[in-house]
Amino acid sequence: MAPGIVGSDERQGGRGREEAGHPIRQLLLEYGWGYKKQFIVGLFSGVAARAMGIVPPFILATAIDTILLEQRPQAIPLVSTGWVPDQPLQQLVFAVLVVAVAFLTESLLHVLCGWELKSFAQNVQHDLRTDLYERVQRADMGFFTDENTGELMSVLNNDINNVESFLTDALSDTIRTAALIVGVVSVLLYTNWQLALITLLVVPLIAGFSYKFSEAIGSRYERVRASVGQLNARLEDTLNGIEVIKTHTAEEYESTRFAEASQDYYDARWDVIRTEVTMHPGIRLPAGIGFTLTFLVGGVWMLTGPPGPLAGTVTAGELVLFFFYTRQLIWPLSTVGQIINLYQQARASSERIFGLLTTPNQVSERDDAEELTVTDGRVSYDDVTFGYEDTAVLESVDFTAEGGQYIGLVGPTGSGKTTLLKLLPRLYDPDGGTVSVDGTDISSVTIESLRSTIGYVGQETFLFSGTIKQNIAYGTPDASESEVIEAAKAAEAHSFVRKLPDGYETQIGEQGVKLSGGQRQRVAIARTLFKDPEILLLDEATSDVDTETELLIQRSINRLAEDRTTFAIAHRLSTIRDADRILVLEDGQIVERGTHEELLARDGLYANLWEIQAGNVGALPEDFTERVLKRRSESS
Ligand code: ADP
Repeated sequence: MAPGIVGSDERQGGRGREEAGHPIRQLLLEYGWGYKKQFIVGLFSGVAARAMGIVPPFILATAIDTILLEQRPQAIPLVSTGWVPDQPLQQLVFAVLVVAVAFLTESLLHVLCGWELKSFAQNVQHDLRTDLYERVQRADMGFFTDENTGELMSVLNNDINNVESFLTDALSDTIRTAALIVGVVSVLLYTNWQLALITLLVVPLIAGFSYKFSEAIGSRYERVRASVGQLNARLEDTLNGIEVIKTHTAEEYESTRFAEASQDYYDARWDVIRTEVTMHPGIRLPAGIGFTLTFLVGGVWMLTGPPGPLAGTVTAGELVLFFFYTRQLIWPLSTVGQIINLYQQARASSERIFGLLTTPNQVSERDDAEELTVTDGRVSYDDVTFGYEDTAVLESVDFTAEGGQYIGLVGPTGSGKTTLLKLLPRLYDPDGGTVSVDGTDISSVTIESLRSTIGYVGQETFLFSGTIKQNIAYGTPDASESEVIEAAKAAEAHSFVRKLPDGYETQIGEQGVKLSGGQRQRVAIARTLFKDPEILLLDEATSDVDTETELLIQRSINRLAEDRTTFAIAHRLSTIRDADRILVLEDGQIVERGTHEELLARDGLYANLWEIQAGNVGALPEDFTERVLKRRSESS
């Protein structure tokens, strides 16, 4: 089992575990702290905007009672009575002015709040995303298994997006909703606390309903997402496998499968729509009850005095104020459920993100690590043992390659050749024994200095989307054209690159020119030549290329290997005939070593493998064939 990515306690260490309970707090403190000014300005402007929003109904209510009905003297809390005019018309103009200023200020404050909080959210998500990317790149190789890749993509995309949605929408909504509720409730209580208690009875009802609604939608959305995934997978399969579909005349079969996937999506989506259509107006119901109740109680109270145990008076203005405020509360209250949902998602996502950020690396640099200085390029493996997780792969591997030597690695599939090479750039660390370069234990030097001395040309030539030049001078954006051409010439790539439409500036990859397998390989060899490492690791390609291309590739590889210590995993033994030494691996052990001639003379595993490749299968000893069969049945 490859190490899982996220959330597991033992991988987070003590600090992670302690903080895992408050991932949102950790998020705000670790990533939000640098942008606290934006957050604070956003917070205060949000609160102030809401405060401004509750001013107009209050002024209107006061105006109704004092100016229009003349039931009580004009007075506005927090405004000096000296400022309020005496004449009713002037009072009305004054009240209208206050309302206009309040609306204007509210709008401006909303802009400020949105601006600051959303830019706070963008800054935090940007920092988090780049940190996470950085961390993922530096994770151990054992991390990048197929099963982890999907999960990694999901953390880097979905989880970051969840955090972003929370910070962008939920955070500002929470601030504004909280401010509104506090403001409105205070004014209602201040105006008429008894009627307020009746009106506010429905607040928990609306919030609860909104939460239930959002929960119901959330789980249904999961199904929609899954069915979209299925639908996309079908489409992708069709486009990639169109030749097979056509040659099997399987169009009808595929159409049926696609229609099924589309029906699944239809059902899932309809389920969401049905819930939305039926439940959403439901939120209006408690709001309507609140409104009716206020109307009833407030009205009766106005006409015949307070009903039941209530005391005091209700004026027309107050009743209007209550109506306005109840309506103002409905929309923010109906988003409570969504906010809680976003919060829960963001919390789970942050937990995964921090789990990933705090995963310790097994391959790590010592504090006192020094730069590696390569003199000869001598490589030694001293009693090296290694296993992936539980399975032992290498056992007591011992050899020394002198500087500049060409070492061939041979052995059946799964014997550990690739693994052996992966220990040299410290993609993995051995469980026992040491690997050293020019006598220096590689675990005592900086990883960067070690890896910069090693070049690797793998079986699968990976080229990045971009220009040929960018691929050859990979990681060196300011490389000169002449250096790139020099490397390409040595790699036998120059002649075909020259003929491409834009030469070295030709785009390759998904959106660019498609190169053949042999061309890709030569670009990859040029990339390694450009890097000019002291030690070279080659995993010979088994892919079929025509004989001429093979000749070109072999020639460029020979040029690449000149004067460098080279390890070459050979599948076609002819390519390492002239190696200084050949190591033959079987079940993670070096079972034979020597030159081609010496090994043939031994008449062991190497000699048998050579016979197979020469096509003399009949000449193989019986027990060799049996061993092969046994190995095959074990590995399958
Ligand atoms: P070779 O290059 O000789 O074919 P490898 O070094 O690739 O052999 O593999 C040696 C053994 O280690 C095989 O049994 C293989 O299944 C296993 N192995 C290789 N890579 C991994 C990995 N990343 N995780 C777990 N097991 C692995």
